[in-house]
Amino acid sequence: MAQGILVVVNQEEGRVRRVAYELLSLAQSLASGQVTALTFGPDAENTRESLGRYGADRVVFLSGPAYQAYSSDGFAQAVAAVVSTIDPQALFFPATAWGRDLAPRVAGLIGAGLASDCTEVHVRDDGRLGAVRPMYAGKVYARVAIDSPRQIFSLRPNIQTVVETGRSAEVVAVDPGLDASTFQAVVTEVKQSQGGQVELTEADIIVSGGRGIKAPENFKVLEELADALGAALGSSRPVADEGWVPHSYHIGQTGKVVSPTVYFAVGISGAIQHLAGISGSKYIVAINSDPDAPIFKAANYGIVGDLFQVVPALAQAIREVKKDA
Ligand SMILES: Cc1cc2nc3c(=O)[nH]c(=O)nc-3n(C[C@H](O)[C@H](O)[C@H](O)COP(=O)(O)OP(=O)(O)OC[C@H]3O[C@@H](n4cnc5c(N)ncnc54)[C@H](O)[C@@H]3O)c2cc1C
Repeated sequence: MAQGILVVVNQEEGRVRRVAYELLSLAQSLASGQVTALTFGPDAENTRESLGRYGADRVVFLSGPAYQAYSSDGFAQAVAAVVSTIDPQALFFPATAWGRDLAPRVAGLIGAGLASDCTEVHVRDDGRLGAVRPMYAGKVYARVAIDSPRQIFSLRPNIQTVVETGRSAEVVAVDPGLDASTFQAVVTEVKQSQGGQVELTEADIIVSGGRGIKAPENFKVLEELADALGAALGSSRPVADEGWVPHSYHIGQTGKVVSPTVYFAVGISGAIQHLAGISGSKYIVAINSDPDAPIFKAANYGIVGDLFQVVPALAQAIREVKKDA
C-alpha cells in the first residue's frame, strides 16, 4: 500500500470542486499512511468538515494574504513547502486547468515524476502507485510507473466515485512563510463564461452539438434535451469557431477533455480530434443521419436519423419518464 497521500484541493468562490472529493475518496482507498488535503484561500477553513467527510485525515489550510489570489509560482512554492513538512509519498492533483498548471511546477520544484491526466491510479505489486493514462488522443491507454521516490498524479474528474467516510479531519498548521509580493504572476481577475451552466469537465451528462445542427438558433433543440436530462451543453470545435456557442463549450483535443457518465454526440461526425476529448465518457450516444459517420465506431449506442426529429422525441420521452417516476 502507498504511504501518505497529499491531495491538492482547488476551490472556486469558497466552493470545493467535486473532483477534490473524488481524489480524497481514491486516496483513502489507496493510502496506508495518512491522507492530507491542502486547500488555499480566504474560505479554506470552512471546508474542514467536508474534506474530512470524504476522506481527509488531516487538512492544511493556507489562508493568509499570500493565498487570496492564485499564483502559479507562488502556489507551487507553497505546495513544495507543505510537502517538505508532511512528507507524503504521493500527491494527487485534479486534471483541471488549475491542476494542469500547478502540478508540473510542483514536480519541477520537488524533483518528482508526474503522470498527468490519469484515468486510474492503483497500488502495484511492489506497493508503489501506478497509473493508467490515455495517449495518442485516447486511441490507447498506457500503464505508467513513476520511478522517483515521490510520485505525482493528476487525475481526470468523474473517474472515481465519491465515498463518505465520516472522518473528522485534524488541522495541521504549516506556514510556508511566503510573501505574495515576490510572486512572478498572480491572477488579478476571473471572468465567468456565459451561461452559468454546470462546468463541462465535471458534468455527469453532456449533450453536445456539431455542425449537423446547421444554424445557431437550432441549438435550442439541444437545450431542450439538456434541460430534460439535467445535462450540460457542449459542442464540436467548428460550432464554437463559428460563434454559434461560446468557446467554453468546445470539446476535444484543442478544447475541454470531458469524462461524463453519458455523452450525447448530436450531429457530430466523430473526427479523431473530437474523440480525443470524449474518450473518458462511460457511455457515448451518437445521433447522426449518416450511418457511416465515424462517431458510430466510438459510440455505445447509436441512432441513425435526422436530429431535428430524433432529439425532440427523445426529450419528450425523457420528460414523460421523469414525470411518472
Ligand atoms: C489541429 C486540429 C485540432 C482540432 N481540434 C478539434 C477539437 O478539439 N474538437 C473538435 O470537435 N474538432 C477539432 N478539430 C476539427 C475536427 O477535425 C473536425 O473538423 C470537427 O470535429 C468536425 O466537427 P463536426 O463533427 O461538428 O462537423 P462535421 O464533420 O461537418 O460533421 C457534421 C455531422 O453532422 C451530421 N448531420 C448533418 N445533418 C444532420 C442531421 N439533420 N441530423 C443528424 N446528423 C446530421 C453529418 O452526417 C456529419 O456527420 C481539430 C482539427 C485540427 C486540424
